[in-house]
Amino acid sequence: MQPTTQNPIIKIRRASKFFGPFQALKDVSLDVDLGERVVVCGPSGSGKSTLIRCINRLEKHEAGQITVDGTELSDSRESLTKVRTTVGMVFQQFNLFPHLTVLENLTLGPKRALKISDKEATERAMDYLERVRIPDQADKYPRQLSGGQQQRVAIARSLCMEPRILLFDEPTSALDPEMINEVLDVMVELAESGMTMICVTHEMGFARKVADKMVFMDHGEIVEASDTESFFTTPKSKRCQDFLEKIL
Ligand code: ADP
Ligand code: MG
Repeated sequence: MQPTTQNPIIKIRRASKFFGPFQALKDVSLDVDLGERVVVCGPSGSGKSTLIRCINRLEKHEAGQITVDGTELSDSRESLTKVRTTVGMVFQQFNLFPHLTVLENLTLGPKRALKISDKEATERAMDYLERVRIPDQADKYPRQLSGGQQQRVAIARSLCMEPRILLFDEPTSALDPEMINEVLDVMVELAESGMTMICVTHEMGFARKVADKMVFMDHGEIVEASDTESFFTTPKSKRCQDFLEKIL
């Protein structure tokens, strides 16, 4: 089990989020330590995406506090810059730029946002393409790649920004079954390299292998947050037990 530290890199305190009258997050609190791997699961519509989108400020929480690497998220320019440079995100639908090659997808952010040279951005991109095992695809366009390859490009693109935290929102849900493992393998390697990760996924084999902490959400609440071993062996709530029975 991960030792609890005094200084989590992500600190969420009683965060709430509304869409009109509908409350998508209800008083959610969670700590994530540097290097910790957290897997979030729960039924569709339970608020998993909303939670991680609030952590990188794609959504704004309306009550409570979210602190990322010491900076409380707000509308301030400082806070937005901080979250953009600290937190990377990988989406279910890859979200690659279709009109750019793989290499261009990877170098765009570092050149524009981090102001690094074309040469350095290209070297960095090739390093990360090696890590996700597709350096040979650098000059192709996203549509020429399989779903599994596109998602590995998306992971490499996030890594090129050298984030301290990486968020994954159901990264394998849009993939054909035979491509799921090539993406999970890359994620396992990342986890083993010490990256701080929050992954929304229902891939429980992956969760058991890498998660330090499991979070179960339902109806906008964190119903259960515990270490991985006790989560799977002795889930406390009935809702969580029922969910696990359905998916395992
Ligand atoms: P999950 O990722 O667990 O499936 P979401 O976080 O996407 O759930 O959604 C939680 C709830 O909030 C759902 O009921 C969803 O319909 C609602 N919701 C999410 N995004 C919006 C939005 N932009 N506008 C209105 N309702 C939304
Ligand atoms: Mg979702």
